[in-house]
Amino acid sequence: MTRIEAQLRGADPRVAGGRLTIDLDAIAANYRLLAEQSTPAEAAAVVKANAYGLGTGPVVEALVAEGCRKFFVALPEEGLAVRKAAPEAEIYVFNGLFSSEAASFYREGRLLPVLNSQSDLAIWEAHGWDDANTPRPCALHVETGMNRLGLTPERARILAQENALTGALTPRLIVSHLACADTPNHPMNRQQLESFQRLSALFPDAESSLANSAGVFLGGEFLCDVTRPGVALYGSNPVSGTANPMRAVATVHTRIAQLRHVPAGGTASYGATPVLRDTLVAVTATGYADGYHRSGSGAGVPLRNALPEGACGFIEGKRVPVLGRVTMDLTLFDVTDVGPDSLQVGDFIELIGPNLPVDDLAAACGTISYELLTALGQRYERHYVRGGDRT
Ligand SMILES: *Cc1c(COP(=O)(O)O)cnc(C)c1O
Repeated sequence: MTRIEAQLRGADPRVAGGRLTIDLDAIAANYRLLAEQSTPAEAAAVVKANAYGLGTGPVVEALVAEGCRKFFVALPEEGLAVRKAAPEAEIYVFNGLFSSEAASFYREGRLLPVLNSQSDLAIWEAHGWDDANTPRPCALHVETGMNRLGLTPERARILAQENALTGALTPRLIVSHLACADTPNHPMNRQQLESFQRLSALFPDAESSLANSAGVFLGGEFLCDVTRPGVALYGSNPVSGTANPMRAVATVHTRIAQLRHVPAGGTASYGATPVLRDTLVAVTATGYADGYHRSGSGAGVPLRNALPEGACGFIEGKRVPVLGRVTMDLTLFDVTDVGPDSLQVGDFIELIGPNLPVDDLAAACGTISYELLTALGQRYERHYVRGGDRT
């Protein structure tokens, strides 16, 4: 087995505390749906943070096979990982250049920087040339309301005038980012669109891109030339409060390490959560070090205000609540209602999957699916499957 194959497999299945299954056909189907929703624009794919925790190589290969030709990452090294899986693709790097030393990464990987600031512009004007002394292509991020990355409108206007004269930069794509796309009626959406249309018109030779996953479902003018969905590819609902059109991608199972009876009046886990009834407890080998958030701890935990009852798992057709605090390597579930006869050490309890959508677990932990997915730990045994092939 090569080192890369070993990394993709994750922990040894004989001893792993949990299993992460990634359905590449579901990612492919999600891309097709997003591409259709994006028409007439082209759908790119955002694969930053190791493809939202699910593995850059296999995810990018599956997307290339569906015809995806443009990828976005946050950092240059992520871009190099995408390049290995997509030799022909256009790969854009959101976070800009930081320093002139970054320029060599862009050259090596044929990566396209998204220039965000005066300093990015200066670095790229100095270093963004190819051997034939022509400026290498880049993207520009223009600020329309996030105040995170991007050139101010004034700076973008000056740049457009200067650049029309000097041709020092060849912007191929103009981007901005929506702050409130998951709230379709938010007035900010139209405000940002109008501001973006004015700014992107200053660069008539470049394509334009505004919509993330939720933005794709705003449709119409929001689609511009290129859309940039991320989280919806990985199965999360792009527009909360509506039925989820995406297919579930990640399934996480934890293993039962021990089963024990705790009599009424006993306590469980750190902080001694009171156990109110005779309880069958499944001690499972997944904790916050695996990305199972401590804020999903069971009832009575002062640190979590989001949902009073905490997170739950799923086994034998039943939802089973987390009991007491989630710890680094172990989480307790109250499996009294499942009963001792149908459970044994080594059995798997679903934590995320067909019965427990990632968005629901996120809500129970007071966070969003983005954070759960990107925090999925390295200790899981990883499986990449196609369609129903869940081995
Ligand atoms: C992460 C990111 C995206 C993708 O957003 P999703 O909500 O995951 O679809 C798009 N554009 C920018 C600038 C981003 O940082």
